[in-house]
Amino acid sequence: MRQYGRTPGSVTLLAVSKTWPAAHVRDAVAAGQRAFGENYVQEGVDKVLALQALNTALEWHFIGPLQSNKSRLVAESFDWVHSIDRLKIAERLAGQRPDSLPPLAVCLQVNVSGEASKSGIDLNTAAALAHEIARLPRLRLRGLMAIPAPADDFAAQCLPFRRLRALYDQLRGEGLALDTLSMGMSHDLEAAIAEGSTLVRVGTAIFGERTHT
Ligand SMILES: *Cc1c(COP(=O)(O)O)cnc(C)c1O
Repeated sequence: MRQYGRTPGSVTLLAVSKTWPAAHVRDAVAAGQRAFGENYVQEGVDKVLALQALNTALEWHFIGPLQSNKSRLVAESFDWVHSIDRLKIAERLAGQRPDSLPPLAVCLQVNVSGEASKSGIDLNTAAALAHEIARLPRLRLRGLMAIPAPADDFAAQCLPFRRLRALYDQLRGEGLALDTLSMGMSHDLEAAIAEGSTLVRVGTAIFGERTHT
C-alpha cells in the first residue's frame, strides 16, 4: 500500500465468494470481512438469504454478467452491481429496485483491453453512458469497473488500469460524484492499487483455488 503512495484504508477488500458454500462466507464474516462479491444470480441470492441468520450487516456486490431476465432478483437482493454495460439493464434495475431499500450502488463495466476482452462497454462510449445512468432514479452511479485481459508483468498490468483511472478522473471532472474504482483481482491487485484502485475484488487469494467456475 504505502509503497504506492496509498493510505491504508483507502482500498476496500471485496471477498469474491462465488462457488464457495455459505459456510465459507460465514468463516470470513467471523474473521471480520463484511463485503462479498457474487457472479451468479441464484447462487448469490441463496447466500444472501443463508447469511441473514447471522444478523450482521453485510454488503453484497453482484459482479458477474447480468441478463435482463435475472435483473429483478439482483435489484431486490444486492447492494451493488459492478457489471452495468448497457443502458437497458440499468433502466430495468432502476425500475425494479424496491422503494424500501436504499438506491442500488452501480459501477459501469468498461472494456479497457479492446479486442482482447469482450466484456464491458467500449472505452470511447463509456462517458456518454455514465452520464445517462447517473440520471436514473433508484440507482447511484458510484464508479467504474474493469477486468483487463490477463498480463504477467507489472507494467503491462498497469496500463489498462491507468486507462480506467483516466476515464474516472475525466467523469469526476465533468461533475459525476464517483468514489469507486473497482479494479484488481488476485493476480493483478498490486498493479491496480498502484494505479488508484479503491476496491479490489479478491477470490482465490482469500478462499483458495476454485474447483469449478
Ligand atoms: C471471479 C472474479 C473475481 C475474483 O477473481 P480471483 O482471481 O479469484 O481473485 C473478481 N472479479 C470478477 C468480476 C470475477 O468474476
